[in-house]
Amino acid sequence: MKKLSFILVFLLFASSLVQAQSISEIINKMDLDSLQLTLREFSGEQPTTINGDEVTITNRVYSNNELAADYLYQKLNNLNNITVTNQLINGETGRRNIIATQLGKTNPDNIYIICAHYDTVADYCADDNASGTATVLEIARILSTQCLDNTIVYALWDEEEIGLVGAGYYANQAATNNDNILGVLNIDMMGYDGNNDNNFDIDVRDVANSLTMKDDIISILNTPEYGFTLEVNVVNPGTTASDHSRFWNQDYSAVLVGESWETNDQTPFYHSSSDTYNTLNFPYYFELSKLIMGYMVTKAGLVNVDNTVTQSTNTLVANQDAVSYQWVNCDTNTAIAGATNQSFTPTINGTYAVEITSGSCIEKSECIVFDSLGLQEFDAAEILFYPNPVQENLVVEMFNQQEDVVLELYDITGKLVLSETSSKNKTILNLSDLASGVYFLKANTSTRSSLAKILKD
Ligand SMILES: [Zn+2]
Repeated sequence: MKKLSFILVFLLFASSLVQAQSISEIINKMDLDSLQLTLREFSGEQPTTINGDEVTITNRVYSNNELAADYLYQKLNNLNNITVTNQLINGETGRRNIIATQLGKTNPDNIYIICAHYDTVADYCADDNASGTATVLEIARILSTQCLDNTIVYALWDEEEIGLVGAGYYANQAATNNDNILGVLNIDMMGYDGNNDNNFDIDVRDVANSLTMKDDIISILNTPEYGFTLEVNVVNPGTTASDHSRFWNQDYSAVLVGESWETNDQTPFYHSSSDTYNTLNFPYYFELSKLIMGYMVTKAGLVNVDNTVTQSTNTLVANQDAVSYQWVNCDTNTAIAGATNQSFTPTINGTYAVEITSGSCIEKSECIVFDSLGLQEFDAAEILFYPNPVQENLVVEMFNQQEDVVLELYDITGKLVLSETSSKNKTILNLSDLASGVYFLKANTSTRSSLAKILKD
């Protein structure tokens, strides 16, 4: 691992522990590794685990996409603050929208929808529309950690490819129920930019407040602090050939955001099994995902709860003055008896989080790797981890090692998944049993410490 990335990991970790959340920070929680892993799994490029079984989602054609639907349900159901339902189209099994709702704390009746269709016409279909699906999941992963003013619905539609059926069913029901939907942001095909010109389209029509939605997205695009370099094409009247148009039909505000058909730079592999992961432009895709996150978090409204924690030598302190606190051991995912003050002094090393109750909001901090004080960071030349990404065996190589090193591997939620003490110069950790994803490896001696981001393929 190179020195630069080493330092970056530390900076990211350190900064996330001391600052209150801003829109910009929420946008920057978007993780390209996490998006890419979802894309590979969902487009069938690599196996995944669904309901405890290792499976490959070979395709998602509407008549044969139960596995894909199960995957989405499971991913969303693992998140806090979200209720997931299978919405059966006309009540029929095998035809389902996956609807995840995060209720607003201030205005629960104000609804914003972020959505994408998950069905396909062929194998892979990474751009159309695993790209949009993965972005919806990534936004849910991050926003579900926040207490929000308004209600957000994360919706994945079935049967788009046979006539916008899933979204049409939902929009109909919503109109019948008089749901107060204030904006529907539909993402369909957002990963292709063949000429690297960063162009994307917003398809809009003058229906309800759709034009204002378009303006709001452009205003986020042009906020210097966010640093976007994308180029927008407004298409008005926009296409009706994706799910947002079913909301226009019900007089709801809606737009489509995606790659640029307007400049004729859409994927040349449209509706074929050549629409694969490797044809996507990831810097472009990542930036467009962040823009969409920027719009959603702005509309959702962040309730002013600071769920960050400051770590000092032997104490963790919740930064929010709150009604109550409960500290949690992330390794075991259990509440720590008696640990209900704003500050907490662990008696053993581990990973800890705090659940904060403030007004009607409950937010949990990220899990914080806590180890006693006084440890200095390893020099990059003193320790190496490779290969990274790793499939099976991760080698930890130490130079000038004088004493035992404690190696601990944490998953992205901060859960300890592997621990080993070694006196060797080269230690091999077998990671073959672990699920694909992002991990953090901590190496500690009595005087030295390091933290590295490891990707498991
Ligand atoms: Zn599509």
